[in-house]
Amino acid sequence: MIDAMLIDYHCHTSFSKDCDYPMEAQIRAAITAGVHEIAFTEHEDYNAEDFTSYFFDHPAYWQAIQAFRRVYGSQLTIRAGIEISEPHRHLDTVEQVLQAYPWDFVLGSLHWIDGKHNTFLPSFFTAFGNWRESFRRYFVELQDLAANGDYDILSHVDYPARYGQAAFGNSYNIGEWEPEIREVLRQVIARGKGIEINTNPLRKGRNEPNPPASVIHWYYEMGGRYLTIGSDSHAPHQVGAHLDRAITIAREAGFTQLATYERRKPTLIDIY
Ligand SMILES: [Zn+2]
Ligand SMILES: [Zn+2]
Repeated sequence: MIDAMLIDYHCHTSFSKDCDYPMEAQIRAAITAGVHEIAFTEHEDYNAEDFTSYFFDHPAYWQAIQAFRRVYGSQLTIRAGIEISEPHRHLDTVEQVLQAYPWDFVLGSLHWIDGKHNTFLPSFFTAFGNWRESFRRYFVELQDLAANGDYDILSHVDYPARYGQAAFGNSYNIGEWEPEIREVLRQVIARGKGIEINTNPLRKGRNEPNPPASVIHWYYEMGGRYLTIGSDSHAPHQVGAHLDRAITIAREAGFTQLATYERRKPTLIDIY
């Protein structure tokens, strides 16, 4: 067990279409799990084929955030976040949404490649001929998001690895796309943005989070300093899950600090 300041910067509540648990249940779970600071990063999607699209009710969310800050604020720091899908494809809409409220934290996510292929669909892994090419296309579009989208932290850098095991079995090795991923990281660093260690795969029994430890090493060695950790929880028992492992990976890569955000301004806090 790591005696650390625990922060969970990727959490969903029933303000996301794919989560059934109200914010208060997630808050109570966070307090029970010993989490000190949480960011609720609800899905903001505009793709017509995505069942979560246009679901996030911003005014109701802000009401809940403010009410729960009053009730639980002394036990848990609650950050108002949003997880935007493909912000580089919806620049004007995103700008309006981000200006309408004093968001603390913005995740930028690539879920739909070419606006057509979601990586959770098996067809993504055959859409471009073979699964290796699908991954390459993913990382190339991620370069576009990293360079042009509005976000603070780039989510789950190797997101397709969560879903494609039927296609790639044990053959997935992120080192095959090192040049493409280093270009993503170069854009992130040049713009003063960051990446996350997303522990979702660990709770499914995988060995590595999104992205694997090797990418966290590349990122640090290239000069990346803004790093968050998050469970991507969609249920109370997932809140805070495997953050200790994420902290260990961060430390092994060279990080002594993690980033937290208030009104989209980062503050680095010591890991220990
Ligand atoms: Zn996501
Ligand atoms: Zn998420």
